[in-house]
Amino acid sequence: MFINESICKKCGGKCCKYYPGTTLPKDFGTSKKEIFDNLVIAFKSQRWAIDWIDKNKNLYFVRPAIKGKEGSTFDHSLNGECTFLSENGCLLSVDKRPSGCLLLEPLEQKTCIPHLSKLEASKQWQKFLDLLFEAAIEAEKIDEEIWGE
Ligand code: SF4
Ligand code: SF4
Repeated sequence: MFINESICKKCGGKCCKYYPGTTLPKDFGTSKKEIFDNLVIAFKSQRWAIDWIDKNKNLYFVRPAIKGKEGSTFDHSLNGECTFLSENGCLLSVDKRPSGCLLLEPLEQKTCIPHLSKLEASKQWQKFLDLLFEAAIEAEKIDEEIWGE
């Protein structure tokens, strides 16, 4: 995990403005049930989205929503600012941030180094795809129950 508040404060979150960090399944829990329940809560909040590298190869991953796209559970925007970026930095506590955010090594006056690729994240999500899509459906169902649609 790479945290360097002084470097990132000066930078103001260029990475977060460009694209949200990528999650790994373990960011949502340690058991399948915990991951499923937390994904449902996340999708219901409308601030998390399923994105993909290649649908035909089942390469999907989960990341925070992009500002203005909140509520789209499936989103393939090429770039955009993370919904959790505020004037004071990330709204999420460190333990709730995506692995991709924690594995981006901040460097001063150089390009920061990513230590988690979207491909690696998608490969890890491949083992949980059924659960991921079921959670998206479940979150929608709850919305329908609440809004009576
Ligand atoms: S990780 Fe790099 S790009 Fe992101 S806020 Fe920190 S210094 Fe800026
Ligand atoms: S979750 Fe936080 S650290 Fe990660 S991209 Fe969004 S604002 Fe930045």
